Amino acid sequence: MELTVLGRHGPFPAPGGACSGYLLRAGQAALLLDLGPGTLSRLLAIAPQLDLDCVILSHLHSDHISDMFVLRYALRQFAERGLRPTLPMPVIAPDEPKEEYRLLTASGVFDLASSADGLQLRIRDARIRLNRVTHPVPTYAVSVEHEGKRFVYTGDTGARADLAELCYGADLLLADANFLDEENPGPSAPHLSAGQAGQLAADAWVKRLLCTHIRGALCDTDRLIAQARRRFPGAELAEELAVYQI
Ligand SMILES: [Zn+2]
Repeated sequence: MELTVLGRHGPFPAPGGACSGYLLRAGQAALLLDLGPGTLSRLLAIAPQLDLDCVILSHLHSDHISDMFVLRYALRQFAERGLRPTLPMPVIAPDEPKEEYRLLTASGVFDLASSADGLQLRIRDARIRLNRVTHPVPTYAVSVEHEGKRFVYTGDTGARADLAELCYGADLLLADANFLDEENPGPSAPHLSAGQAGQLAADAWVKRLLCTHIRGALCDTDRLIAQARRRFPGAELAEELAVYQI
């Protein structure tokens, strides 16, 4: 598999950066995971025909979906000119909040299926599993397996007891690390702190950890990655436009 980070920020981008969006190629399958602000232009740079098999939205907050509302224009005009892809584009997303879900369905460009906890599906030769995590709106972590390798994206989530099991043994874990440890508001937090992301990687015995969902220019990224590395020495910050082999 191969992961390209289109954007690593949330809930707003750093100057010149983009919010959450990731392109995962698993064999013949091209899966887009989230499409936050600034990510569509980067997607078009590496997949100019938008030949995706499926879009999977972890949740319906704007920092993960806003470019979907621009993607619909691109898809429609590509289709009108007989270019790939054919419409509608398959999208898997939580069906709440209702207003955001309705906006996605209203265009007719997307063929939406609702996320569900434990949902498993196969797209070409990729095996995909969704698991509910903890965030103010319904949110799902995404696991993808292909040829014996496993990738897990936590989506946005606070700490929860079953996260380590969900991430266990991943070859690459892409984890929410939104807070510095001292900023963590406590058990009801909607995101992991850097230290919690590192601890998760250690507890789950993952092989590689990428920290993501960085708070724009407000984040001291040197401090953040140092806190993650106290628990998981190999922790890395996700780098925008970097390509990671899995
Ligand atoms: Zn977010």
